[in-house]
Amino acid sequence: MVTGGQAIRGTRVGSGPVGEAERGVDAEGVDVDYHCHNRHTTTIRFSVEAGGEVPETWDCVRCGLPAGEDADNPPEPPSITPYKTHLDYVKERRDDAQGETLLEEALQKLREQRGTA
Ligand SMILES: [Zn+2]
Repeated sequence: MVTGGQAIRGTRVGSGPVGEAERGVDAEGVDVDYHCHNRHTTTIRFSVEAGGEVPETWDCVRCGLPAGEDADNPPEPPSITPYKTHLDYVKERRDDAQGETLLEEALQKLREQRGTA
């Protein structure tokens, strides 16, 4: 009984300084982990002095999907990409170029067919 009480008291004393240290870090800024649907973790450091408002979601730095603080329940990826990456533009341009080439080939065949007919 007595030994148990001392153990609890000892735990309290030990945890005290840790709590104070955490509060000290919080005064400067707070690290918030955001987890996206692809299980990436994005850690953003927010300055508490700048307002203390921490957004609920943050765009994943690795894949751009919205990431939330709950690792087990990340935000659903949007069906429409909110913004296009440089790669998307490159892909789109390449598709356009291929489409134009195919169209050009089709027109060329038509002209040839008409020419021979
Ligand atoms: Zn991600």
